[in-house]
Amino acid sequence: MSSSKDVFFDEPLTPGMFRRIRARSILYSANSPYQQIDVVETEEYGRVLYLDRRFQTSEAEEYFYHESLVHPAMVIHSVPRKVLLIGGGDGGALEEILKYRTVERVDMVELDGKVIEVARRFLNRICANAFEDPRLNLVVGDGRAFIEKSSDSYDVIILDLTDPMGPSKYVYTKEFYDLCRDHLNPGGLLSLHNDSPFFYPEAFAVIVNTLKAVFPHMVQFVTFIPGYLLDFAFSVCSSSPIPERSGEEAEAILRRQGLDASSLKWYEPERHGELLKLPAYARVLLKQE
Ligand code: SAM
Repeated sequence: MSSSKDVFFDEPLTPGMFRRIRARSILYSANSPYQQIDVVETEEYGRVLYLDRRFQTSEAEEYFYHESLVHPAMVIHSVPRKVLLIGGGDGGALEEILKYRTVERVDMVELDGKVIEVARRFLNRICANAFEDPRLNLVVGDGRAFIEKSSDSYDVIILDLTDPMGPSKYVYTKEFYDLCRDHLNPGGLLSLHNDSPFFYPEAFAVIVNTLKAVFPHMVQFVTFIPGYLLDFAFSVCSSSPIPERSGEEAEAILRRQGLDASSLKWYEPERHGELLKLPAYARVLLKQE
């Protein structure tokens, strides 16, 4: 039930649609040097993080996005030791990465230190204690500048970035993907999201075709993200052939990693092969280019 005191968060979803979420209360609202940050309490999603009034993640459904972004790549790799996470200030992806016992170091590069501060204060159900993990090397700065200067290489690189507007527009380019490729160890993987093939077919095709110009091997899949109310595509890319994993193998990898598969809600290791397939409606878009 709404009342005259309610505050509504309106946001365009596509050029012809917008959605309105009623905030029961506003827990935090301020501008950082980069963006407006809001954390609000809602009926359906629990606490929601907004950046520039765009829904980023929520307590209730964060696992759809964070598990999709992290587990396929980590399981395909099977023994990731060094991981680079670019963006992801809410800590949800970081928390998933740190579940792997072979991970010795995560370099996390987030542009906006305020997002991290706000996540630690208000979004503990999303980041848990990930920011306290001794394996984390946290860098507050621009992901592209970091990788340009870095001489390190990684087993897995994960991009958890805002949409290509404002501060993240230089990290959706071929030059940036070239840099990522050059900082991967042999057999290393890049994992990222590729927008909505149904609602943004052009953006999807452009991102995937840009990735294809850099990486000869890719696995792609689509899932529904309740927070975005959109279908959403993800890619795992590599310079080396990507090993196919049977359900049994994926289960065995998680067991060796000490990761309890029953604690996951989207990634089901026994369905690994089935989950990581691109449906026909999205495949067709790539053929049209
Ligand atoms: N799941 C989210 C989504 O797509 O809706 C992304 C969430 S995460 C909060 C995105 C983060 O990327 C933000 O905290 C933002 O500050 C960070 N970011 C944007 N551009 C960046 C860059 N160039 N380098 C590092 N972090 C960046």
